[in-house]
Amino acid sequence: MIQAERVQVLRPGEPSGKGFVLLWVQSSVRTRDNHALEYAAGEARRLGVPLAAVFGLNPDYPEANARHFQYLLEGLRDLRAGLARRGVPLRVGVGHPPDVVLDAARGACLVVTDRGYLRPGRQWREALAGRLEVPFVQVESDAVVPIRTVSDKQEVGARTLRPRLHRVLERFLVPVDVEEGAQGHPDWDPGLDVSDPALTVRALGVDNSVPPGEEEGGEARALARLDHFVTRLLPRYDSGRRDPNVDGGSRLSAYLHYGHLSPLTAALAAREHSDGGPGLDTFLEEMIVRRELSFNYCEFNPAYDRYEGLPAWARKTLEERAGDPRPHLYTREELDAAQTHDRYWNAAHTEMVRTGRMHNAMRMYWGKKILEWGPSPQEAYDTTLWLNNRYQLDGRDANSYASVGWVFGLHDRPWAPRPIFGNVRYLAASGLSRKFDADAYARRWT
Ligand SMILES: Cc1cc2nc3c(=O)[nH]c(=O)nc-3n(C[C@H](O)[C@H](O)[C@H](O)COP(=O)(O)OP(=O)(O)OC[C@H]3O[C@@H](n4cnc5c(N)ncnc54)[C@H](O)[C@@H]3O)c2cc1C
Repeated sequence: MIQAERVQVLRPGEPSGKGFVLLWVQSSVRTRDNHALEYAAGEARRLGVPLAAVFGLNPDYPEANARHFQYLLEGLRDLRAGLARRGVPLRVGVGHPPDVVLDAARGACLVVTDRGYLRPGRQWREALAGRLEVPFVQVESDAVVPIRTVSDKQEVGARTLRPRLHRVLERFLVPVDVEEGAQGHPDWDPGLDVSDPALTVRALGVDNSVPPGEEEGGEARALARLDHFVTRLLPRYDSGRRDPNVDGGSRLSAYLHYGHLSPLTAALAAREHSDGGPGLDTFLEEMIVRRELSFNYCEFNPAYDRYEGLPAWARKTLEERAGDPRPHLYTREELDAAQTHDRYWNAAHTEMVRTGRMHNAMRMYWGKKILEWGPSPQEAYDTTLWLNNRYQLDGRDANSYASVGWVFGLHDRPWAPRPIFGNVRYLAASGLSRKFDADAYARRWT
């Protein structure tokens, strides 16, 4: 079922019924629980025309390097195979996405796309809508509840978003129906060869200063990890996710970021396998409430990726403390090389640089220390975001902006004042050792 709230007309009109339907894949790089794909397939069937898909790969995407491109291409490799099983061909075109899609749309009678929540994708959709001469429809598929259905403004925090979201959640937490029968376009140029992602990354000549991470991307891996998570880890998730020395978290964030996995698939699978313990609620709180709070922030705050996007109280208190003496002061280069006095911080940073993933339990600590050791809150903010987006496989996500913002007071409340932090929440190393064996973690990574 595709709820009406997911569908937004970006260029109105009635498709002519000649030519084909084009699916522009941007954010939902998968075949399972993909509302945009099913909408496009349904329209192709209704109009009696074939269906084809296109992905515009922009080698100059802001902050993306070889680590990110390899994961992206692994997803496109799986997408091409998954669509082929349904008879739908995929073209991967290299260039500015609106140009790639405009070219692919020659002869189409309707263009359908999914949606993300960040500025580049929004600008591409607007640019394409202004240039297309056929109807253009957007179908929201990467949020469990369409974000404008939940709220039409920036929410203060999870406590204000949660009740709004829960009021409508059940209506949206349903699988997407698949009706086979759409015909694939018979004569479709596939564009870029994505069968060997590592080879294609080298051929694209993208920034290769960060090598691929440890985990492989793509829908097949995403579903395998989800299965492992819901069958083995979910019963112990509530406590397991807090210990970086064990494999206890879902590790789904990069798959969710690249759209290789739908949050709907993950939520429904978790419900099906839940043993009735607290793990399910904790998981749904993180993956639906917290994740969609990040979407809300990026959708409604035009400065979501800048220090200026932080709440006024947080900026004020941090700036009042900008002159406080810093017992430790590190440059971005020293941080990047994990050359600090703090072995826990160095371990967390090294884990991220080497693997492409820092454990959830270390991320807040890692960010708070950059604030504590930075020359100014503005520089600390920029450095945190830069490092996060450079190395994390789930970086450059709405979660990246909201979570780094959280380090600096976003979606939080004022706390008792402290040097450097003012009223922004502080975190001490002793807090780590209370929750898990922090020394074992430090030994493992340094
Ligand atoms: C400084 C800092 C930077 C972060 N950077 C990112 C980032 O770049 N990308 C990213 O996806 N997450 C980021 N997070 C949020 C969180 O740490 C990761 O989502 C989580 O570690 C991913 O691991 P997991 O998939 O095992 O998550 P789990 O703990 O199993 O959670 C399940 C899912 O819920 C979502 N989620 C979990 N925690 C949060 C949160 N605090 N806010 C929003 N969604 C959440 C994620 O999609 C995650 O995959 C950051 C947090 C901090 C404090």
